Amino acid sequence: MSAVWDLVVIGAGPAGSGAALGALDADPALSVLVLDRADFPRDKACGDGIAPQALDVLADVGVTGLLDGWEPVRQLQLTRGNRTVERTMSRPAFVVPRTVFDARLVERATAAGAVLTRHRVRVLGRDEKYVLLDGRIRAKVVVGADGAQSMVRRTLGLPQARHTAIAIRGYAPVPPRRRGQQSMAFGRHHQPSYAWSFDRGDGLSNVGYGELLRSNRPAPTRQWLLDQLAELLPCSTTSGTDWRGHHLPLSSWTWQQPDGRCLLAGDAANLVNPMTGEGIYYALATGVLAGRAAAQAIEDGSGTGAGARHRRAVRSLLASHLRHTALASRLVAQPAVLGVGLRAAARDQQVFDDLVELGLGRGRITPRLLGGLAAGLPRTPPHAARSGG
Ligand SMILES: Cc1cc2nc3c(=O)[nH]c(=O)nc-3n(C[C@H](O)[C@H](O)[C@H](O)COP(=O)(O)OP(=O)(O)OC[C@H]3O[C@@H](n4cnc5c(N)ncnc54)[C@H](O)[C@@H]3O)c2cc1C
Repeated sequence: MSAVWDLVVIGAGPAGSGAALGALDADPALSVLVLDRADFPRDKACGDGIAPQALDVLADVGVTGLLDGWEPVRQLQLTRGNRTVERTMSRPAFVVPRTVFDARLVERATAAGAVLTRHRVRVLGRDEKYVLLDGRIRAKVVVGADGAQSMVRRTLGLPQARHTAIAIRGYAPVPPRRRGQQSMAFGRHHQPSYAWSFDRGDGLSNVGYGELLRSNRPAPTRQWLLDQLAELLPCSTTSGTDWRGHHLPLSSWTWQQPDGRCLLAGDAANLVNPMTGEGIYYALATGVLAGRAAAQAIEDGSGTGAGARHRRAVRSLLASHLRHTALASRLVAQPAVLGVGLRAAARDQQVFDDLVELGLGRGRITPRLLGGLAAGLPRTPPHAARSGG
């Protein structure tokens, strides 16, 4: 490992494999090393929901057929209290365990020419010219795809996410009434929060519960998370196994990427949808963009321009969407607004589709969605408005 690599990717999750695939798609002759502290296949706490937008990103770098053998899930059910909306999504999602999904992805990256090595990176430094990892691995460009507790992010001196959620997941047999569905039941106590049951299509479902961490209350215990799941989706914990929890660094209005040779992607870049906890699409999209930025910057010269290129590309893809999801997540944290949103989605398929796009892809708060919300809000009688009531 003593040669100078064109690109070293730290972390072989979706963001890391995406970065390797993006770089090698741009220039198959690049030398790309992917380092992960774990052996693959490895598990990762996740709802395992793969949005169709994630597959679009992969198709763009020539990766198709990755989910062969897994059933698409078309129905999405949203519940709050006794109100339920169930509709067919305009494009189906998939529910694939990360032991399978991430391993298949990394196989595609190595098939494209990346070298995968088990190695935990501890120190990110520099020699006179390149980035130096652990005093011995040299790279023209590094992509930090090392997840929610990213050491690359810490070393670059970037702030932690302003908002973080915590969630637990397990696997349990699918009850007949939840077959073929992704079900989400919004919480009654801590806001915002929700429990989910996602049918994998193989007899098991991924079940879990997550909520926003707040500084004015203690961090929830594992038992609290499991109790909320059992309350919101009765019986879902009964035969559950493989319980595993993790933090989610939620995205906000702004997104930071410094100049230079070190790029961030996925959870390491604090890119998790604050409305839904979706992060795989962002990880793949920003991973691929990071790989392309690295390839272009290396072609231009030494690689120092990679940071600026990556920043521009991610902003152009996501800046407006991130502002809209930041606003929408504040709104739906109010139970009354969430209730109005669900009613609007029950009335109008287009409002439902717009909500899904905002929560899983890179949608915005559309005029239709706004109109649906406005139509459902209680009217203030004119005399009350005049009297300031
Ligand atoms: C309970 C839960 C449910 C979720 N449900 C969904 C869902 O249904 N759909 C969805 O889209 N998103 C979901 N998410 C979010 C999603 O899991 C993440 O956004 C996604 O995994 C981010 O991918 P990543 O590649 O950035 O990071 P990761 O998948 O976390 O990969 C990071 C990799 O870096 C490696 N690594 C870390 N540090 C080092 C180091 N120092 N040296 C070498 N390797 C290192 C790790 O071993 C790991 O393999 C959920 C998250 C949680 C916690």
